[in-house]
Amino acid sequence: MKTENPAPADKRSVLLRGNAKEFYEWCRKRELRFQRCQDCGVWRHPPRPMCGSCHSMRREWAPTLGKGKVYCWTVVHQALDPAFANEVPYAAAIVELDEGPRLATWITGLPPDRLTVGMPVEVWFDDLDDQVALPKFRPLIE
Ligand SMILES: [Zn+2]
Repeated sequence: MKTENPAPADKRSVLLRGNAKEFYEWCRKRELRFQRCQDCGVWRHPPRPMCGSCHSMRREWAPTLGKGKVYCWTVVHQALDPAFANEVPYAAAIVELDEGPRLATWITGLPPDRLTVGMPVEVWFDDLDDQVALPKFRPLIE
């Protein structure tokens, strides 16, 4: 099935504005940081102005070590946006970082049918260009 999508084939368009902008600025520096409430300590991801737990507006960008486990995933076989047409099939996953926050991401480095729940993974940063680096994960070999 072929779909017509008038959206621009630009993976960066949603990354460099709004509350997500700071998240991707850290990624460009090769740091996986997440918002954390400075009043109650709850992680806040996706980034947003107010804590969903205590309604505080105070927050910090707390670092993680970039290691975690596969929480769940789906395999994308057909790109909904032409920008991803050359990437399919790929595993769109939720990774739970060892520090607690969960991140929607990609799993690379092995065929999607070899993924398992709880598989240890580590972050790497995929440079789209000199402004955007996407955090993706690969199996952690220790
Ligand atoms: Zn809070």
